Amino acid sequence: MTATLPTTRTLTGFTPTGRLHLGNLLGAIQPIVAAQRDTDTVVFLADLHALTVTHEPAEVRARTIEQAALLLAAGLDPVRALLYAQSQVSAHTELHYLLECATGVGEAQRMIQFKEKATRQRYVRLSLLTYPVLMAADILLHDAQEVPVGADQSQHVELTRDVATRFNARYGPTFVVPRAVHPRTAARVMDLAEPTAKMSKSSASDAGTLFLLDSPDTIRRKVQRAVTDSATVVAYEPATRPGVANLLEILAACTEGSPVALAEQFPSYDGLKRAVVDAVVATLRPLQARHAELAGDPGYIRRVLAGGAEQARERTAERVRRAKEAIGLLDPAPSI
Ligand code: AMP
Repeated sequence: MTATLPTTRTLTGFTPTGRLHLGNLLGAIQPIVAAQRDTDTVVFLADLHALTVTHEPAEVRARTIEQAALLLAAGLDPVRALLYAQSQVSAHTELHYLLECATGVGEAQRMIQFKEKATRQRYVRLSLLTYPVLMAADILLHDAQEVPVGADQSQHVELTRDVATRFNARYGPTFVVPRAVHPRTAARVMDLAEPTAKMSKSSASDAGTLFLLDSPDTIRRKVQRAVTDSATVVAYEPATRPGVANLLEILAACTEGSPVALAEQFPSYDGLKRAVVDAVVATLRPLQARHAELAGDPGYIRRVLAGGAEQARERTAERVRRAKEAIGLLDPAPSI
């Protein structure tokens, strides 16, 4: 989830359910790092969202630290940007509960993502049903006006709008009502083994996902096995040849080129794949080196997250206080 706040604030959540991959880097992390100088940037590790499906406690904790380290290694500057773990800022859960009191069970049950994920599991956690309400809290806490999302998240932004509008109508103006926007520019990296599906940390197999900490050999093996097609000439035709188009887009994103112009430079798929390997390895090399340094100093990462959480608590306290007051709860610190 990424949200743009009034004029220049953006909010992005990374869920520590798996390892960060090239899609995260090109589609989300690099744009955040590029914009952090002129933008009020809020990035949170959505560790509470990671608990909505079967999880290993130690793994969620380790992935939260790993993702924070990778974000910092990729250039996120904790002085310019606010970086914190969602669970360390209780405003998220406090507001989540208040918003649940303004949401119908039927509304939550209609969410397509819930239905899809629930059918794949034998034991469905109640938190999977209420997860879009927590996402609404994440957005409303930070006063987001626009939420840039892929089509799969549009319904959750609609729910956020409905809940905010209802809350405001019943209890008085409290929240900015956000709207979904669909940015065309952000890179969308597809799975190498299944190029019609988005590269994802939760794919059934790792074969098509380039993880940020993959070794050069692993990257070479995965790219060489990437699905292409039976044509012999390299051309950029995303609708009919998604595998080759994805390789060209990855190469373009890593070299700041254009997929159409790059297609003309390669007489064969073999040459294109070798260039993709070189470009991805070169893109990841400095990030991996910086990550190795940071991984040796976990105290630093914890201090960054603790400082970020403190700032986030300060920023969001007033929004929660107003929501509590509006809905009918006692003032926690009466001035008598
Ligand atoms: P997630 O991995 O779902 O927690 O998403 C974290 C951020 O990475 C969000 O801003 C996503 O839109 C972005 N993202 C995830 N997968 C991709 C992908 N394959 N291509 C581009 N952006 C992605």
